[in-house]
Amino acid sequence: MTADCLFCRIAAGEIPADIVAEDEGWVAFRDIQPQAPVHVLVIPRVHVESAADLETDSDLAGELLRAASVVARTEGLEQDGFRIVTNVGERAGQSVMHLHFHVLGGRRMRWPPG
Ligand code: 5GP
Ligand code: ZN
Repeated sequence: MTADCLFCRIAAGEIPADIVAEDEGWVAFRDIQPQAPVHVLVIPRVHVESAADLETDSDLAGELLRAASVVARTEGLEQDGFRIVTNVGERAGQSVMHLHFHVLGGRRMRWPPG
């Protein structure tokens, strides 16, 4: 846990969040500023800065992707399609420096992303 990290504090229960699912290693909660009818963030409980740090931890990578897929199913997105995305670094749009996968759905998605 990193004391000054927003998502570490959410994972620790110090900052409230609308949690939709959780397990030993991860927490999934609704984004405070949703960009789609369903917008959930999946984060590891351990502090990892971004997906760039997953190179050495394929177990964590797999666990988080599995969690994202479980969330998509329980949120009813499986039939209509959904998007899992993670931004790496400020230039790619990462604003919270604790790894998170966005699970977005409930509307038609455009490509390429901005
Ligand atoms: P990023 O921009 O780093 O890819 O995604 C960070 C996401 O975290 C944004 O979509 C933003 O709306 C969300 N977010 C920022 N602060 C909070 C918060 O305090 N609570 C929740 N639930 N989401 C947050
Ligand atoms: Zn953190």
